Amino acid sequence: GFKMGIVGLPNVGKSTLFNALTRTAAAQAANFPFCTIEPNVGDVAVPDRRLETLAAIAGSRQIIPTRMTFVDIAGLVKGASKGEGLGNQFLANIREVDAIAHVLRCFEDDDVTHVDGRVDPVADAETIETELMLADIESIEKRLQGLTRKVRGGDKDAIQQERLLKAALSVLEEGRPARSVPVDAEDAKAWKMLQLLTTKPILYVCNVDESAAATGNALSEKVAAMAAAQGAASVVISAAIEEEISQLDADEAAVFLEDLSLDEPGLDRLIKAGYDLLHLETYFTVGPKEARAWTIRQGTLAPQAAGVIHGDFERGFIRAETISYDDYVALKGEAGAKDAGKMRVEGKAYTVKDGDVLHFLFNA
Ligand code: GDP
Repeated sequence: GFKMGIVGLPNVGKSTLFNALTRTAAAQAANFPFCTIEPNVGDVAVPDRRLETLAAIAGSRQIIPTRMTFVDIAGLVKGASKGEGLGNQFLANIREVDAIAHVLRCFEDDDVTHVDGRVDPVADAETIETELMLADIESIEKRLQGLTRKVRGGDKDAIQQERLLKAALSVLEEGRPARSVPVDAEDAKAWKMLQLLTTKPILYVCNVDESAAATGNALSEKVAAMAAAQGAASVVISAAIEEEISQLDADEAAVFLEDLSLDEPGLDRLIKAGYDLLHLETYFTVGPKEARAWTIRQGTLAPQAAGVIHGDFERGFIRAETISYDDYVALKGEAGAKDAGKMRVEGKAYTVKDGDVLHFLFNA
């Protein structure tokens, strides 16, 4: 599965957001820096209304959404890259995630302490980015030393790694994140394996007050401008509202959202933004037993898409019977689509498309 790490300075609303996402009290929110000491991990259903539509047509007894993992990563502070505070734990956890959801405090509240004594989300973003860059520099320097002997021995992988690490180091030393290094297709895999912190895609999460949940505010606009300049994504959310919504049933939540002029919970937008950021898409398997959504990267071929369900499906892949979501709905299901000639038989070279309803045939 895909993992998003929730990061941010202490007291910006990470735990509140994580609680809302996972509907548990496991990550305790409190007005106290370092509240979230253990990394908390939660699997979150990816909201997708298409799944209910498909299940209704097929009469599926069960609906199983696809999931995304969120990790609430302990508060980062200035100096974290030097191992102060909870830094080391933070850095170890953040290496493992596919993308970073960076929560920024965009609300004013004198009762909630800001670690740096002022509310300035753009400065906060820079504080964290700086720590991540320093951490990358330190780890690159260590790794370069470790590679010296192999490089001298002519080890091809080591030579490639050294070249990439040096390219990263030179931009980092100019104060830019490693993601600003242009990487060739043939280096892409090795580059990713370096797991540098400042190569992870970033989604800025502007945590605003209740009153600004629908519109955003001046602070979240500054963040949006910064995100656009970096090619990063941003969403506006009110963690406090989301936490309230997460405790309501569906009908109550709908009324509450309408009162706030919101179309959908901010969490839904957050999860979708994470999905987009990671270039993910969804395909479906639909039958009387269950209607189920599966996550793949955009551009995934049919056998690898099948492999998300089970390794055997990929190894023994023969073909995929494929109906687009729109055809499935318009023709009221598999039989109708088949009769209309809209069920395609696709082979190993087929690139799965978002919304495809797939049935895999494979050698067991
Ligand atoms: P963390 O340290 O980043 O995990 O922050 P928490 O989620 O523990 O939140 C810190 C404090 O800020 C708590 O007292 C929250 O209730 C409060 N808080 C979180 N989000 C908001 C918000 O949108 N508005 C206001 N006024 N307070 C918030």
